[in-house]
Amino acid sequence: MTGGRADGLEVRTASVDETRALAAALSAIARPGDLVLLAGDLGAGKTAFVQGFGAGLGVEERITSPTFTLAQQYEGRLRVHHLDVYRLDQLSEVVELGLAELLDDGGVVLIEWGDAILPALPNDYLEVRLTFGEGDDDRSVALATVGPSWAARRRVLTEAVEPFTGARARGAGATAGPGAAAGEADHQGAGGC
Ligand code: ADP
Ligand code: MG
Repeated sequence: MTGGRADGLEVRTASVDETRALAAALSAIARPGDLVLLAGDLGAGKTAFVQGFGAGLGVEERITSPTFTLAQQYEGRLRVHHLDVYRLDQLSEVVELGLAELLDDGGVVLIEWGDAILPALPNDYLEVRLTFGEGDDDRSVALATVGPSWAARRRVLTEAVEPFTGARARGAGATAGPGAAAGEADHQGAGGC
């Protein structure tokens, strides 16, 4: 984690809706069999991300935290499998999730706390790491591609998040200071719901 992820993209969001819009933009490049691993502390926005991702795929049902079930399934343009392995006691329980079957189902699998079960996951996924920022509603969303299928999509991935990379809009190399987002946050392309 030192010095950031050289192979990754980092985006900041200033509201839950913006995180959802970012996720929806990413869902546009999703393919059957994709795995998205969500990392970040409690309340960082992992479930919010899945909500936006699902909305982007046309899921109409309300996506909530799979509290009692480890996995939930939603129908959209692609089927969405939403897993939360926070309560998983042992790695062996992952077997019961039937992950391979879920990935083979023609849908997309998103796993909250997926970094906790890395040894059980195929080495081909998009990692989305959410961290808290300065203000209550500020989040940093770090994206890292692992494995061939996501690596091949680096360019479209960069394009998908471009509307959310404020630094790019403000000038190359300029990292937004804490005050930059506090004023008139003009996030083009983040609209819609
Ligand atoms: P997690 O699944 O990581 O535990 P949730 O998505 O359930 O987190 O909750 C995130 C909480 O943080 C929600 O109450 C949401 O409204 C709030 N929030 C505030 N700002 C943001 C943001 N920029 N991105 C995501 N969530 C945010
Ligand atoms: Mg959650």
